[in-house]
Amino acid sequence: MKIGVLALQGAVEPHVVALRALGATTVAVRNPTELALVEALVLPGGESTTMAKLLRLNELEEALAERLAGGMPAFGTCAGMILLASGVLDGRADQRSFSAIDIDVRRNAFGRQVDSFEADLDVTGLAGGPLHAVFIRAPFVERAGADVEVLATVGGHPVCCRQGRVLVTSFHPELSGDVRLHQHFLELAAT
Ligand code: GLN
Repeated sequence: MKIGVLALQGAVEPHVVALRALGATTVAVRNPTELALVEALVLPGGESTTMAKLLRLNELEEALAERLAGGMPAFGTCAGMILLASGVLDGRADQRSFSAIDIDVRRNAFGRQVDSFEADLDVTGLAGGPLHAVFIRAPFVERAGADVEVLATVGGHPVCCRQGRVLVTSFHPELSGDVRLHQHFLELAAT
């Protein structure tokens, strides 16, 4: 299975490293031709407003919308989670999100005074103990639909969710050297 990593902006390379460590074949996705090569897609962290803009400029916006609507498995981390959400609070008016998972997210939700923090999270279904999670100007989930499974929370706010073959995290699992969530995504994508 070829796993794409959206490579327009943001923390692309650490996802490639994590996926390759698990034996996956990866493709950097920057245009519709590259998107057509992959069976699943990781949307990295970075800046969701910039990524939304670059998706449009690279004529990737409609192609991505179509693939997601067609059920392509997707793993969105931080800004990637924002792109996959149904609704974005504190976003820019022209910021596109793709409704691949029935959640509303608030950008920069943990507040300016704590732009970044780290936490050990209990993630439902993840064997081997807590997951060390890095949050960088992170969003959290304000609303999760009935079909969404909340897998982890911080201060009562969902920060890791799954619906079908779409997995999202507020944090950067690719930055802590723990590949268990990537492994979980590869297993989901293969179902
Ligand atoms: N605050 C960023 C945004 O709104 C997300 C930060 C991140 O991906 N680390 O897109």
